[in-house]
Amino acid sequence: MTAESTTSSVSSVGGLGAAYADTASEAYRAALRVIESVEPRIADATRKELADQRDSLKLIASENYASPAVLLTMGTWFSDKYAEGTIGHRFYAACQNVDTVEAVATEHARELFGAPYAYAQPHSGIDANLVAYWAILATKVEAPGLAELGAKHVNDLSEADWETLRNKLGNQRLLGMSLDTGGHLTHGFRPNISGKMFHQRQYGTNPETGFVDYDAVAALAREFKPLVLVAGYSAYPRRINFAKMREIADEVGATLMVDMAHFAGLVAGKVFTGDEDPVPHAHVTTTTTHKSLRGPRGGLILATEEYAPAVDKGCPMVLGGPLSHVMAAKAVALAEARQPEFRAYAQSIADNAQALADGFTKRDAGLVTGGTDNHLVLLDVTSFGLTGRQAESALLDSGIVTNRNAIPADPNGAWYTSGIRLGTPALTTRGFGADDFDRVAELVVEVLSNTQAEGTSKAKYKLADGTADRVHAAAGELLAANPLYPGLTL
Ligand code: PLP
Repeated sequence: MTAESTTSSVSSVGGLGAAYADTASEAYRAALRVIESVEPRIADATRKELADQRDSLKLIASENYASPAVLLTMGTWFSDKYAEGTIGHRFYAACQNVDTVEAVATEHARELFGAPYAYAQPHSGIDANLVAYWAILATKVEAPGLAELGAKHVNDLSEADWETLRNKLGNQRLLGMSLDTGGHLTHGFRPNISGKMFHQRQYGTNPETGFVDYDAVAALAREFKPLVLVAGYSAYPRRINFAKMREIADEVGATLMVDMAHFAGLVAGKVFTGDEDPVPHAHVTTTTTHKSLRGPRGGLILATEEYAPAVDKGCPMVLGGPLSHVMAAKAVALAEARQPEFRAYAQSIADNAQALADGFTKRDAGLVTGGTDNHLVLLDVTSFGLTGRQAESALLDSGIVTNRNAIPADPNGAWYTSGIRLGTPALTTRGFGADDFDRVAELVVEVLSNTQAEGTSKAKYKLADGTADRVHAAAGELLAANPLYPGLTL
C-alpha cells in the first residue's frame, strides 16, 4: 500500500491528515506563544516532544497518536469545572455544559459499542477497573447484604453491622489472567490494589501453545468459585472467545468483567465481532480510551442494566470530580471512531500486525504463540541470547521504541524479562502499511542480531559498530514516507 492511499483511508479524521494542517498549525503556534510567555521550558519541551515522536519508530502496543481535534479539545476551560455526581445529578452548581459533554460522550460510547450503558468519568484504565470492581461488589455483595439486614443505605447500619458487611466486601474472590501470560497488574496482581482487596488466583495459558486454555480456566473457576472472572490482557497476541468466558462465569455464578483496554479500537472498528466482541457477553466491560481507540488518555466503562446503577456511582465510590475537558475529548474521539474511516484503520492495525508477525517468522525470530491475530506481537529474544531489557535498549539506540515484556514462565522475571512487545496502532495511524511493517521486522532483527550480551549481565550489551546509525537512517526513510501530522508546523 502506498503511503498516500493509506493516509487517506485511515488517517483523514480529526485533522490527522493534511486537510486541517494549516488550522491546527495556527492553533498550536498560538497556544505555544501563550505557554512560552509564562514558562518557556514547558513550551520548549512540548515542541521537542512532537519532534521526538515524529522521529522515532513507535511500536509501543499501548500508545497511539490522537488527532489534533482530540488534543485541542483537552486544552479548554472545562478543566476548571468541578462536576461531582452524574448527568443531571451533580453535587455542584452550574454543570449544564459538563452535562452536555458527558451525555454526548456516553451516547457515542453506547452507540459505538452497542452497550446499554456507558460511564465516561474514569481518569484512566486503572480507575475504570477499580470502579468496575467496586460496582460488582456493590451489586453482588453490598446490596444483598443491606437487604438481609433490612436497611436501604450503608449509613443506616449500626457500626457492628457495617463491620460485618465490610468484612464480606473485603473477602471476595477474583480470577484473572497471570501477568507473565499477558494479564494486567489490575487483574489481581498482589502489588496492585486488586490483589489486596480480593483473594485472587490467576489462570495462565497452555504451556505448549501459549493460547488461553478454556478447559483449564473452567476447571480453575469450578474449584476456586470467584465472584469476578476477569478476561482481557496487555500482552497476549491472540483473540479471546468471550462467549466461552461468559459460559464459564455463568457456570460458577461469577460476574464476567472484560478489560478491553488494549483492543477497544478493534472492537470499535468491528474487527472483533461475534464471540470476540466482549460487550454482548460481559456484565461489565472496561477500557482505556488512549490505546488502539486513539482518544485522549482516560478510561471508560460499559455495563448491563444490572450493573449500571452501581457503576454510575463511580463518584463518590472511587472517583472525585471528573476531568470534564478529557470527557469532552473522549466524546470527540468516540465520534471519530464512529466514522467509516475508523473501520479501515482498525482493519489495518490487524493486517499490519500480521505482516509484522510474518516478517519475524520468515526471519526465524521466535514469537510467543507463533504469531498474532490482534494488534501486537510478543517477540521471544532468548534466541538472540539477550534479555528483554538488553533488546529494548539496543532497539532504542537505533531509533526503535518498544517495551520489554515478560513471556510465559519467564526465566528472567518481570524486570529484565525475555520478551519485547511490539504493537501496530501508532504506526498504522501514521499510514504504515504491510510492506512497511515487514521492513520494521527486518530492522528489529538486524539490531538484535548485532547485539551481544556483555558477560553475565542482564542489562549490559554491546551493539556492533555502525548498526545504530544504519538502522536509524533506514527507520528515518520509513518515517519520512509516513509523516506524523502531515503539514503541521509549529
Ligand atoms: N488495563 C489494561 C489491560 C492495560 O493494558 C492498562 C495499561 O496499560 C490498564 C488497564 C491501565 O491503564 P492506565 O494506564 O490508563 O491506568
